[in-house]
Amino acid sequence: MELSEAETAALLAALELQIAWGADEALEEAPQDRTLPRAPAAAAPAPAAIPRPVAPRPATPASPAAAFAPAAARAGELAAGADSLDALRAALAALDHPLRETAGNLVLSDGVPDSGLVLIGEAPGADEDRQGKPFVGVSGKLLDRMLASIGVERARNAYLTNILPWRPPGNRTPTDAEMSLFTPFVLRHLALVRPRHIVLLGGTAAKALLRRSEGITRLRGRWHSLEVPGLGPVPTLATLHPAYLLRQPVGKRDAWTDLRLLRRALDTPPES
Ligand code: URA
Repeated sequence: MELSEAETAALLAALELQIAWGADEALEEAPQDRTLPRAPAAAAPAPAAIPRPVAPRPATPASPAAAFAPAAARAGELAAGADSLDALRAALAALDHPLRETAGNLVLSDGVPDSGLVLIGEAPGADEDRQGKPFVGVSGKLLDRMLASIGVERARNAYLTNILPWRPPGNRTPTDAEMSLFTPFVLRHLALVRPRHIVLLGGTAAKALLRRSEGITRLRGRWHSLEVPGLGPVPTLATLHPAYLLRQPVGKRDAWTDLRLLRRALDTPPES
């Protein structure tokens, strides 16, 4: 079987990641008979064939929310009015928010907007704040290696963003009010770049967009359907955040399972 240069690079990157993550046996969870024809890959839930144009609306703020409702409504209006990525950036830059005062740079995105795959993290850290780009620090380097292991590369076929566009002081976890405020911008961002698959990296992204009370360890490892106003339902995979994997190497096994789930979905032709 002839492999392309990109396929060979992905296989080598996968092997390198497996070795770095301590794999010392080439075994699957269950024995496999490789003489049998391959079963068709399990498909991710199919997006709607014809996206329904739905007017973007502000997210329902999570608790403690009531006090934040007017700001969130204003954020929803601003986000809904952005008809391009430049307009979205301008709308965010114009938002009068305390995080803007403490951050160095607005961090919107990196990668290929029309790649079909969007990965969403939590918020910029110190390196991202300095460079104005998401995932350029230590956890970003790990993310790049993880993606390379399944043939995904931000410069070629992926797009990265975060729930928050500004670094929270001291890298603290975003508050519920911050998540509610910025979620309409994230949804508008998604409507503009129209992904076919979304990956939520970590608990903050999963909580903000899936609006589920379970933690990331319960939400990860399966496809959810995210309703993106103006686009429709998009298959969305929740997985562990690379920063968590740096602290808890035991999660790498689950992360690898999720990466393979993603690869399988990317390889599955869209239903017509
Ligand atoms: N962690 C995130 O969630 N996003 C970044 O951009 C960097 C680190």
